[in-house]
Amino acid sequence: MKFSDLGLAVPILRALHSEGYHTPTAIQVKAIPIILTGRDVLGIAQTGTGKTAAFALPVIHRLSTDRRQAPRKGCRILVLTPTRELASQVARSFRVYGQHLGITVSVVYGGVGRAAQTQALARGLDVLVATPGRLIDHIAERNITLAGTEVLVLDEADQMLDLGFLPPIRRILSELAPKRQSLFFSATMPPEIGRLANDLLRDPARIAAAPAATLVVSVTHRVIHTESHQKRTLLVQLFANPQISRALVFTRTKRGADRIARHLQTAGIRVAAIHGNKSQSQREHALAAFRAARIRALVATDIAARGIDIAQVTHVVNYELPDVPEHYVHRIGRTARAGATGTAISLCDANERDQLHDIERLIRQSIPAEDRRSSASRLDNRPAHLHSVGQDTRGAAIHPGDDHKSSARARRQRSSRHGHRHNKSNGGSASSRSGRSWAGASGGAAARERVRTP
Ligand code: AMP
Repeated sequence: MKFSDLGLAVPILRALHSEGYHTPTAIQVKAIPIILTGRDVLGIAQTGTGKTAAFALPVIHRLSTDRRQAPRKGCRILVLTPTRELASQVARSFRVYGQHLGITVSVVYGGVGRAAQTQALARGLDVLVATPGRLIDHIAERNITLAGTEVLVLDEADQMLDLGFLPPIRRILSELAPKRQSLFFSATMPPEIGRLANDLLRDPARIAAAPAATLVVSVTHRVIHTESHQKRTLLVQLFANPQISRALVFTRTKRGADRIARHLQTAGIRVAAIHGNKSQSQREHALAAFRAARIRALVATDIAARGIDIAQVTHVVNYELPDVPEHYVHRIGRTARAGATGTAISLCDANERDQLHDIERLIRQSIPAEDRRSSASRLDNRPAHLHSVGQDTRGAAIHPGDDHKSSARARRQRSSRHGHRHNKSNGGSASSRSGRSWAGASGGAAARERVRTP
């Protein structure tokens, strides 16, 4: 299958050619022809699958075949994304793919001044990419009306849920004319997101890209069992390996991210941190430095890093394992992008064994482990080799030295996920095919509660 087989306009094909895209990805092959017919789409896909082009290309095609002035104080296409970084990235993709068509593309998000945004809206835009909060502000100030919007794209819907954006999204939807095309993309389908999709879409075509667990084939996984107080030293030791040229280091909390970044800095490693407490310009500065290889490590929390597309990330280091196993898949999706290979190294202390076990079950792999614990702590704790896929070792999971609070929290999250597993309302067959739950990923109050903390 070639892009030219998909019926896209020649100027779009030229742009794709100069970008070096030759073959459409699976989600593009499935989504593009359907979106071109004007039908609504419910797409289950996460970043890394080529989903941005899957919706952007047919939407740009529509603009090229139905040329008309964008409505003043309005936009023809509205794309909603959960984070500012993703909004910038999606807008960049629209500009690149539409470079020969003279389409107008702009972004609206918080953390920066409003004046330039208001001016761009006043002229009218072909494509507006926005995060929900700032868009609501502009609606309230009557800088924009959405009545003339022809296509709505909701990107990374499940992360919108994680960030508490469902009420603003429903408010934005109420501003749209009913006659429109709606495209809905989510990596997972927890029940709330299923309900939102039901309310938003009319007779949608359901499309699923490869389930998350199979996205990780080109990543080499490693886990190092260690003690929590040893992690910082171990992290610095890892950076002695010159093959780690561009590494994303994930921590659970914003303060943790700052702490680790300071520690790496002291050890002479060029580093920056990115998380929700950083200003927009600090976040952009850090990302630009990382992209340009001026820094070797970017320490990030889950939310700040999700959806970010940076080429040639050689390593993802999980300084702390995520409580929600699907976040592991999102994290390692930052490496091995577009066919490259990458390495994911996880530092696992005694309190994180259950998370590791859940991750191994999700990705259906036993992660090769190395034990760097002191001999005293080895005696105290469950041997590392007991972790293996499909073999439930949790019967003996509470050990001397285990943190009962964190085990209880992990259990609550597991039961919340399992509770959703048989909920038919989450719709779709990908979960049953892959044997994992759409509902579980990022779903459930416990998961959301955790996600808000970083
Ligand atoms: P996305 O899933 O939209 O974040 O895209 C992941 C990465 O794949 C981005 O760097 C895209 O530029 C790239 N990409 C998307 N579609 C293709 C394609 N058909 N061929 C090569 N690279 C692609």
